Amino acid sequence: MVTDVSHPIPRLIHTVDELRAAVASERQLGKRIGLVPTMGALHDGHLSLVEISNQECDITIATIFVNPKQFSPNEDLDKYPRTIERDLKLLAHHRVSFVFAPTEDQIYPAGFSTFVDPPSVALPMEGKSRPHHFRGVATVVLKLFNLVQADVAYFGQKDYQQSLVIRRMVDDLALPITIRVCPIIREQDGMAMSSRNQYLSTEERGQAVAISRALNEARQLVEAGERDADTLRTTLRRVLEQAEISKIEYVCIVHPETLDELDQIGDAAIALIAVQIGKTRLIDNCLFK
Ligand code: AMP
Repeated sequence: MVTDVSHPIPRLIHTVDELRAAVASERQLGKRIGLVPTMGALHDGHLSLVEISNQECDITIATIFVNPKQFSPNEDLDKYPRTIERDLKLLAHHRVSFVFAPTEDQIYPAGFSTFVDPPSVALPMEGKSRPHHFRGVATVVLKLFNLVQADVAYFGQKDYQQSLVIRRMVDDLALPITIRVCPIIREQDGMAMSSRNQYLSTEERGQAVAISRALNEARQLVEAGERDADTLRTTLRRVLEQAEISKIEYVCIVHPETLDELDQIGDAAIALIAVQIGKTRLIDNCLFK
């Protein structure tokens, strides 16, 4: 990733009042604002969103908030990596103007009880595996949109279903913001970058590369003319099983807009995988166009 060390360090903002004031003065100056929402523990995937925002907007505001409302009680909220000092250094090198890192009470003040009921694309896949996840995601993202008042918000295709939930919410509620979904950034061996990859032992990391390998095999089959979705599902499962990934949560071939399972690959399809390796849950996907 290219870095620009000449740019000033971003201003770190912890409170809603301070954020609103900072945003108001930028808007008065007519600046086009890009928003990159994250949970921190930043890697090149997050930074690619910042770079695209920098290209398309006058200023970029990154947010770092590990949102408790999108984790269920049995998930990794407490051990989710928090590396704020390192994150700030990385963002300083990537020309971010403001970093909004609120405490929990700034986002969810006492008495908070209003939630977004997410759209139907939230129901399958992640929605089945993590029943309250998208309710928490949609709620915090809508709140961040209201606070930051950005012109464009940047999300990764890595969390494909999440990006669809947000696009749908923006359309359904006529939110005045443009959503940009940006490509998946991968490690050299193909593994999708994720803050959760650091949980993996060396042996588990070796198994995990099978996820992108499986998607790659499926993509090659589609490029060679395969159109039968079950053949692709079988291929995906075979590669995962060969790597002895025992807990496959889902392997889906669906329409990219409706998330309906497909029999045949038409103009557009997407393969999505969720597995658990040891205690770590990993997701990845590949769009076929
Ligand atoms: P997170 O911090 O995991 O909530 O991710 C924040 C944003 O970064 C989301 O829009 C993710 O989809 C995106 N993101 C995470 N990993 C990647 C990746 N490997 N490539 C591109 N975007 C990513």
